[in-house]
Amino acid sequence: MTTARDLIGEIDFDPTELKARYLHERDKRIRPEGNDQYVEITDRFAHFAEDPWADRSFSRAPLNDHVDVVIVGAGFGGLLAGARLRDAGFDRIRLIDAAGDVGGTWYWNRYPGAACDVQSYIYLPLLEELGAMPAHKYSFAPEIMEHSRRIARAYRLYDDACFQTSVTGMDWDEASGRWSITTDRGDAMTAQFVVMATGPLNRPKLPGIPGIGSFEGHTFHTSRWDYSYTGGDTYGNLTGLSDRRVGIIGTGATAVQCIPHLAEWSQHLYVFQRTPSSVDVRDNAETDVDWFASLEPGWQQRYMANFTALVSGYDEPEDLIGDGWTEIFRGLTGIAAKDASKRLGRRLDPLEKAEMMELLDYRKMNGVRGRIDGIVEDDHTAEMLKPWYRQFCKRPCFHDGYLPAFNRSNVTLVDTDGRGVEQITPSGVVVNGVEYEVDCLVFSTGFEVGTGYTRRAGFDVRGRDGIELSQRWADGARTFHGLQSRGFPNMAFIGFIQTATTVNIPHALAEQAGHLAHILREVRDRGFDVVETSQTAEDEWQDEIARTAVMARSFYEECTPGYYNNEGRVSDGTGYAAGMYGGGPVRFFALLDEWRSTGELPGLELRRVGQ
Ligand code: NDP
Repeated sequence: MTTARDLIGEIDFDPTELKARYLHERDKRIRPEGNDQYVEITDRFAHFAEDPWADRSFSRAPLNDHVDVVIVGAGFGGLLAGARLRDAGFDRIRLIDAAGDVGGTWYWNRYPGAACDVQSYIYLPLLEELGAMPAHKYSFAPEIMEHSRRIARAYRLYDDACFQTSVTGMDWDEASGRWSITTDRGDAMTAQFVVMATGPLNRPKLPGIPGIGSFEGHTFHTSRWDYSYTGGDTYGNLTGLSDRRVGIIGTGATAVQCIPHLAEWSQHLYVFQRTPSSVDVRDNAETDVDWFASLEPGWQQRYMANFTALVSGYDEPEDLIGDGWTEIFRGLTGIAAKDASKRLGRRLDPLEKAEMMELLDYRKMNGVRGRIDGIVEDDHTAEMLKPWYRQFCKRPCFHDGYLPAFNRSNVTLVDTDGRGVEQITPSGVVVNGVEYEVDCLVFSTGFEVGTGYTRRAGFDVRGRDGIELSQRWADGARTFHGLQSRGFPNMAFIGFIQTATTVNIPHALAEQAGHLAHILREVRDRGFDVVETSQTAEDEWQDEIARTAVMARSFYEECTPGYYNNEGRVSDGTGYAAGMYGGGPVRFFALLDEWRSTGELPGLELRRVGQ
């Protein structure tokens, strides 16, 4: 009988041993308090949520006007929705954002080293439409911010925008077919349509480490980097740290990017680690201008589709991206299974396929761990930096400066063996009973996930018949295609609720934005004022979400805790990956495409005001 091992050839590891190690490492990290291990940014830490880049002198008169569309959130989701609605001929489009400009995550995250780790040619939206060329294969944060501004300028999204403004409430008025929107600047505006593009990871969180409030040194969260203290900018040059002992808590995707800079500039850097990241080769480079000029019209959509197909396990005839992401997926997903099927002369059954992928994952992660031995000189440090979980339990990282930073004499890795920091004192951080004195403590501890949608959005929404979104979604989101929810007419959600996610997030946002613009244009052109999902369409979509969620669930159950699996509590159904469409992005985009090509608006109810 053919075994999974026969399918992938020789293996030089013991899968049983590795599996046991993975489960052991996961068990060490599961904390009974789950998400409650984190504390809110309030009281002493209230300033962590403030905008360090804001113009504090800004003021404006309250607005009492009417616009066609209000878009809450001016990140890529809001910008793409705005751009596509502008293309569809909508006139008054108002972006509202608490930030002082567009950019969303790239507005807030300006920490040293911030950059995207998906290739800029597919990550930066609308490159072709705007005739823009990224300077590097992987763009640094300032270029991404500038591109966000370019989109806003090109689609005239600054015209009606309200920045440094937070929505405080929204009420649907059935009689006028309009939303009333209030803000913290005293605005009381109305809009025919509302788009919620508030982002999945927008509220910074802090670890509930005993004594966290007692620390007397300087502190900040990575998403609000305090350059007035560190000196320098997003490119580094943190001269303010030359006589400072700095501690950083967290070793996720953000920490991997900023630690090399902290290491270079701090008098001494202590890295407090609970779970190591998987860090692979990045290999950034300047854009090859001739290659870029040679790209044929329609290239960006083709490249995005190719990447998304590859990273979803489809066997594409060519790999247009050819980087770490596509390499991982080509090795781990259905492509490998297809190769094995060819060799075997039959299709693999699901169990064989799952076993084979598990073995390939072990092999890949052995490579990641082996790379650490080749770079990190101190054997103990190298051992501590090794991730013991499957590749997609956490977001894989790609960086060429992270591992070498641990060879510096001024850098100490303080591993907590999965337990996390024990205590914070007025002068430092305690791990295994040892206090590490620091002048500055940087929290690279991520963002809230799994909390209620309206809590993260920062306001509640009162829909038809006075029903509140927080109530309606108290047991989880309910939508049709992730875009509309019964009881909330003329409201759309752009983001990651009951849709398909993909590594290249702007691609998913672009597909949703295009779909939304199609719907609103149809509603308008057919002479209607109001659109709402039918109860049946919403119910059927819940069934589809439940049906397709099963595969992902068993994978995440075995994973090390993190925000993907709601800190190891998959059964709660509230992690980042929970409630997504499990059929993957390729099927999801095709499904939306098919829906549009019916020429009708199946599942949507249209009406005119006053009828
Ligand atoms: P994460 O949530 O990924 O990481 C938080 C870190 O804090 C983890 O290492 C966590 O450890 C650690 N931590 C939490 N509590 C404690 C504690 N008590 N003691 C010690 N350590 C603790 O946040 P990030 O900001 O790093 O990343 C968020 C997301 O942003 C990424 O997953 C990615 O999607 C995105 N991102 C994307 C980038 C890009 O290039 N496109 C770059 C940066 C971020 P543990 O793992 O054990 O929970």
